[in-house]
Amino acid sequence: MLGLMQNQPLLISALITHAERHHGDGEIVSRRVEGDLHRYQWRDVARRARQVANALDGMQLLFSDRIATLAWNGYRHLELYFGVSGSGRVLHTLNPRLHPDQIAWIANHAEDQVLCFELSFLPLVQAIHARCPGIRQYVALCEADRLPVDSGIPHLVSYEAWIGAQGDRYDWPVFDENSASSMCYTSGTTGNPKAALYSQRSTILHAYAASLPDVMGLSARDSVLPVVPMFHVNAWGIPYAAALNGCKLVFPGPNLDGKSVYELMEAEQVTFAAGVPTVWQMLLGHLKQNGLRFSSLKRTVIGGSACPPAMIDAFREDYGVDVLHAWGMTEMSPLGTLCTLKNRHAGLPAPEQLKIRLKQGRAIFGVDLKIIGDAGEELPWDGKTFGDLYVKGPWVVREYFKGDGGDPLIEGWFPTGDVGTIDGEGYLQITDRSKDVIKSGGEWISSIDIENIAMAHPCVQMAACVGMKHPKWDERPIVAVVKRPGAELSREELLGFYEGKIAKWQVPDDVVFVEAIPLGATGKMLKTRLREQLKDYRLPTA
Ligand code: AMP
Repeated sequence: MLGLMQNQPLLISALITHAERHHGDGEIVSRRVEGDLHRYQWRDVARRARQVANALDGMQLLFSDRIATLAWNGYRHLELYFGVSGSGRVLHTLNPRLHPDQIAWIANHAEDQVLCFELSFLPLVQAIHARCPGIRQYVALCEADRLPVDSGIPHLVSYEAWIGAQGDRYDWPVFDENSASSMCYTSGTTGNPKAALYSQRSTILHAYAASLPDVMGLSARDSVLPVVPMFHVNAWGIPYAAALNGCKLVFPGPNLDGKSVYELMEAEQVTFAAGVPTVWQMLLGHLKQNGLRFSSLKRTVIGGSACPPAMIDAFREDYGVDVLHAWGMTEMSPLGTLCTLKNRHAGLPAPEQLKIRLKQGRAIFGVDLKIIGDAGEELPWDGKTFGDLYVKGPWVVREYFKGDGGDPLIEGWFPTGDVGTIDGEGYLQITDRSKDVIKSGGEWISSIDIENIAMAHPCVQMAACVGMKHPKWDERPIVAVVKRPGAELSREELLGFYEGKIAKWQVPDDVVFVEAIPLGATGKMLKTRLREQLKDYRLPTA
């Protein structure tokens, strides 16, 4: 016997319809690249999202066609989130911090047909458009009178002219909730980047989960500032969860320095914020230097890389702000665990509580976790034994876009590439990651890319790149190099060799010349051993 409840597919269009009908006057405030603050309401987002949908229909774009963005956190990006996915197309958020070669490769692999970009990324678009023949419409996120002349970009229109020519009536189509809604590429640890392809259903379930009290605990009373970029796993799902709850949304645009973020938080009475540790470090530095305090901020989610204990302490003890340490990944939409205390921890002394808060947290309902040993056996939850972390759930990838990399699952579980412990109460702690990519300022740097470039230099015999702890950027890459016999090569010459080949911030901070790189039994570099050898090394920039 089937239940007798209405069968409505879980679609992203329902989020924006709900926000318009029930929270129509909820505010959206955006710092624009133009420098000013833009302010409007959820009902305006909905109206303009319908104009986006009409514009896409007018181009005869098909169901599931990809629409790419190169954009900061702002209201036009938000309209695209709903207009693109609501009309059945796939929103592809490109990461503007990647090298143009990588962006062009990704846009071609995704078969993007439209690229909507912020004017600040014009040089980037100029660098890639000739290599992306599949893109048939470029949309600059600006007013018509700011559209650059002689940009050299074909089929260029301003966003305001593009949607302004459209009516604001649109019947959102109803279709299978398992249809794709958005995509995000992971930086490939080996080979090319692979895309996680989210579905309408997975996005809605994730938005419900993100809203729960022991997750982000969002409500219509919150003023929410996502510092985490909308091109990084959909800003951790916040735009969707904000529509679901009718939160006020505050977007920082490109200004992520401590002063700008603080002033925006105060002016818009932000109660909840989310971002990677690097951004919060800049914010805390600004507060400390200027003797400032928060007047409204209550909670902040910190994730993307491990949150340092001093940061959790400073937010809590000095400023009365709860830090919610979260763990997840692109392949998980991204939320996996989030750290809040249980009832029985309430009486524990502060240092004991801090030990728990430092962990990455407990599984969110929908996600299940396990840790696995070398022989494939499930390891005990004792908080000491560490193993490979596997996850499963309705917002975890089953397969990558185009089947890249083959079947990623092992008996239905997704191996995360992270290593961790789980304690008796279900709290996960990430101890390491088995991958060798380097995380700098919340962004990945592929060690393989760096090694490949070094090894392309005629004087280099072998190169191995590892991340070194950095007080501001979390990690910075250095490259250990074995010179060819008899070759003359200086540190400066090799660093100069990276120029123009990768983005500036991906260039290693230092070169260390070594006699040999340790190799394992199968001829692979043993980076763990290399790190041990370099344990006394200090970064010149730290
Ligand atoms: P990404 O797919 O770029 O979001 O990166 C996901 C990876 O970031 C995870 O597999 C972890 O290695 C790392 N990560 C995310 N959150 C945390 C955290 N709270 N602590 C430690 N590592 C984290």
